Amino acid sequence: MRYDFLIIGSGITGTMIARELSKYDAKTIVLEKENDAANHATSANSAIIHSGYDPDPGSLKAKLNVEGNLLYDVLEKELDIPLYNNGAFMVAHDKDEEGLLQRYYERAKTNGVPGVEILDQQQARALEKNLADDVTKVLNLPSTKVTYPWEVAIAALENAVDNGVSFAKNKQVVSITADNEGYTVKTEDGTTYHTRYVINAAGAYTEKIAKMIEKKVPYHITPRKGEYMILDRRVAGFIQRTLYPTPDEKGKGILMVPQYHGNILIGPNSEHQASLDDVSTSKGGLKIVKEGALKLAKNIPFHKNIRTFSGVRASSSHKDFYIKESLEHSGFIHVAGIDSPGLTAAPAIAKYVVDTIIRPKETLIDNKTFNPCRKAITLYDDMSAEEKSVAFQSDARYGNLVCKCERVTEGDIVRHIHRSVNADSVKAVKKRSRAGAGLCQGGYCEHQVIKILAREFGKTPLEINYFSDQSNILKNETKVKK
Ligand SMILES: Cc1cc2nc3c(=O)[nH]c(=O)nc-3n(C[C@H](O)[C@H](O)[C@H](O)COP(=O)(O)OP(=O)(O)OC[C@H]3O[C@@H](n4cnc5c(N)ncnc54)[C@H](O)[C@@H]3O)c2cc1C
Repeated sequence: MRYDFLIIGSGITGTMIARELSKYDAKTIVLEKENDAANHATSANSAIIHSGYDPDPGSLKAKLNVEGNLLYDVLEKELDIPLYNNGAFMVAHDKDEEGLLQRYYERAKTNGVPGVEILDQQQARALEKNLADDVTKVLNLPSTKVTYPWEVAIAALENAVDNGVSFAKNKQVVSITADNEGYTVKTEDGTTYHTRYVINAAGAYTEKIAKMIEKKVPYHITPRKGEYMILDRRVAGFIQRTLYPTPDEKGKGILMVPQYHGNILIGPNSEHQASLDDVSTSKGGLKIVKEGALKLAKNIPFHKNIRTFSGVRASSSHKDFYIKESLEHSGFIHVAGIDSPGLTAAPAIAKYVVDTIIRPKETLIDNKTFNPCRKAITLYDDMSAEEKSVAFQSDARYGNLVCKCERVTEGDIVRHIHRSVNADSVKAVKKRSRAGAGLCQGGYCEHQVIKILAREFGKTPLEINYFSDQSNILKNETKVKK
């Protein structure tokens, strides 16, 4: 089969583009090297839908950030995704930083950010009682929101698949060659795909992908790691808003971000590294994260930390997002340098790719059966008493509480496993259902999740992976009857 559009990568960028293309009558496929969508930067970031105060006026980042922020309100309804309209404060501690607040206030206005204002200490403290004592003024950014990033990407992909897009995971693209009608794309397992367009949305790997076909890649990816700690959801309410420091030459700085489910995320630092996929954390990095947080708030319950993690930003030498058709190969589209605010901008990036790059070259015919809506699964614990009764009568597995921290039942897990983008790894189940996302981080429930996955996919527990298709959790049986 020859595809019209082949998208490499199923992070937030690739999945949003897939959904956008599913509005049209075209054959589209998404190839992903991992065993699930959204396993890289899209699953390790600050989860903020930024207002747009930060990017340079006139840049693509500024335009797509503000547009993307507004589109999340639409996505909340269409894709039934979590969106927490909590706003943000950027804090200042002295006259110099107050000067920066003023500069960002003006920049936010120029970028079209709604509702920005500067508040004095008293006004700010009335709204956020745990602000650090030495905060003198804040920039109020009420249009800032928080989402659950991988769920947005998975929801967009599920919706795209429901509307006719194909998704192939465990398919690492290893070569791209131009042919008479477009491109031949090969994956590591030897599969060949023919396509008219290639859309390179491979995150930190975009340069590597581009080098498969381009003589001169017009950008260079300079990976930048950010480390985090995450506090247990029992700290919910400690702060209401996202707290930013004034930015420095390294970026937005170390933030405190109340999450949709009640946790508080603290981080990230910003360190250049050579590796595209080193997501380790370090004592030194986390010390910087803690010190940064103390400039934002007081009495931080650091002892409620349940996990540390890091993500890699796909920053590029181009500085701005690089979203252009190749100068060497017609139909090869770079969607590169998608670092922050890439999560926010993704829905607008998808529209930009389709409307400004593809549409001028192609007659796009509407997909008459396109349905913009996808429904999230309500966990048993969140159901009303009547709903619980109906659910339990239809499936007794709702009576088996698997994840005690996040209160996820076997019935919930099975429903999350079998959707149009299925979940066949432990991390895929965690991303969708939150089983393993709580205080014990899977210590008590992981073995049950493995058993459920094995049963649902007709595999042995030894074959169940955590993250990639080579991350088995169980290595061999220890109590085999001879
Ligand atoms: C520390 C940090 C904090 C951030 N905070 C925010 C924030 O608060 N708000 C915000 O708006 N943005 C934020 N961002 C930016 C945002 O997370 C990214 O811009 C966004 O997730 C990028 O998505 P993506 O789809 O382009 O890349 P990714 O999510 O990395 O996805 C790329 C995909 O391509 C796949 N792939 C790579 N090579 C191949 C291949 N050869 N074959 C097949 N598939 C391949 C990968 O496996 C991966 O799934 C942050 C980023 C980081 C790292």
